[in-house]
Amino acid sequence: MVKILRASEMGFCMGVRRAVQIMQGEARPDNPVYSVGEIVHNPHVVRALDAGGVRQLPGPDEVDGDIGAATAERVKEGRVAITAHGVGQRVLEQLEASGLDIVDTTCPIVTRAQRYGQKFVRDGWHVLIFGDPGHKEVRGIVGWTRDGKGESHATIVESASLEHLREVVENFPGGFPNKVGLMAQTTHKMEDFAKFVGNLMLLKRDHNFEMHVVNTLCHATTGQQEVAAALAQQVDVMVVVGGRKSANTRHLKEVCEEQGTTAHHIEGPDELDASWFEGVELIGLTAGASTPDYSIDEVEARLRELLKI
Ligand code: SF4
Repeated sequence: MVKILRASEMGFCMGVRRAVQIMQGEARPDNPVYSVGEIVHNPHVVRALDAGGVRQLPGPDEVDGDIGAATAERVKEGRVAITAHGVGQRVLEQLEASGLDIVDTTCPIVTRAQRYGQKFVRDGWHVLIFGDPGHKEVRGIVGWTRDGKGESHATIVESASLEHLREVVENFPGGFPNKVGLMAQTTHKMEDFAKFVGNLMLLKRDHNFEMHVVNTLCHATTGQQEVAAALAQQVDVMVVVGGRKSANTRHLKEVCEEQGTTAHHIEGPDELDASWFEGVELIGLTAGASTPDYSIDEVEARLRELLKI
C-alpha cells in the first residue's frame, strides 16, 4: 500500500503568513490595498487576495530606484502595501513623501538583511550579496546600499563556484575592494553560502583583505530544507508544492535531489502525473514558504485520488 509522508515543517513561513494576514486585515473589496509587486510567489494566493481587495499593481515588479514616486502616481489615493520581500530605501522614502498610507509587511528577517547592507556601506565596506540578481528581496537589499548620490555599493554574486568568484574578483571595476561585507539571499542554502565564503577566502589571501560575514539566512527556510532532506532519504519520490518563481521552492527540490531522490516541483494538483508513482511505496510531500496550507491539502487529496489510497 502506497503511503504519503508529509514534511513536519513546510508551507507558509512566518514572514509570508504575517504579510498575508496584515494585508487581509487592511483590505476591503471597496477600499483596496495596492501591493508594490507580487505579494508572494504563488498565483493561487495572489488570486485569492485580489478577490478580498489586495490588488497587485500592474507594471514592472520594481523595488529599487525611483519607482516609489511612479508607484504613488499610479495609486493616487488609497493605500500601498510593501510585500514580505521589502523594497529599497529610496522607494520607501518616495512612498512616505507621497502622503499615501503605507502598509509595510516586510518580513523582519529581510529588514535585518537590509539594515546590515545599509550599515556596511555607512562603515565603508563594499557589500557582496550571494543571491539571484532578479530576485525581489535581493534587489530591495541593493536599494539599501546606495550612498547619498544614489550609487550602490553592492555586488550580487550568483554562484559560489571558484571559477565564477575568480571572474568577479579579477574583473571587478576599479579593482576588488579590500573590505567586503558578505551576506546571502535569505532563502539560499547554508552549504552554498559556506562555499561562497570559503571560496572567496581561497581567492583573496592577502593580509590586508578583510571580510565581515553576516548570516542573513532565514531559519524558517533552513529548517524546512533540513526536514525535506531527511524526508527525501526515507521515501521513493518527493512532491514539492510551490510557485514556479519561488526561489525557496526550487531550493527545496534541489535539496531533495541531492539526497538521490527524484523530486517533482508542481504549482497545484492538476500537474500531478500518475506515471511518477509507478512502483513507488513511499511518497514525501513538502512545500515552499509561499504555499498556503489549502494548496498542500489539495495536492494530497489529488494524490490519494490518483493512487486510490
Ligand atoms: S522565507 Fe524567511 S525571510 Fe523569507 S519571508 Fe519567509 S520568514 Fe521571511
